[in-house]
Amino acid sequence: MIKLKLTALEEAARSRPAGYLQEVLAAGRVEAGFLWLSDDLYASLCVRFGGDCKRPASMLARARFTVCKACSHSREQAFGCEFHRGCCFGQWRSNVANKCPKGKW
Ligand code: SF4
Repeated sequence: MIKLKLTALEEAARSRPAGYLQEVLAAGRVEAGFLWLSDDLYASLCVRFGGDCKRPASMLARARFTVCKACSHSREQAFGCEFHRGCCFGQWRSNVANKCPKGKW
């Protein structure tokens, strides 16, 4: 989980496209002046809106890898997917445009 100050998000919204703040707030849980976002959603929003995010692609790949490790469709030691053939599965997971064939991420 990622914890972000609401005041920092409001400040960032001044240089982001219209609708940024509403979309970001809707993606997580607001509590006591902070927004809590899952790593996966944080990474997706970083890729979508840019900014000074910390390694969104690697965070996204790690979050997705955790899901794949527990999935009955993962195969072999590297937890590749039985529905996705080819090399570079880690790179495939790190691209926000790619989706799990079974809708798990
Ligand atoms: S079905 Fe989805 S979660 Fe399961 S191994 Fe394939 S990509 Fe990963």
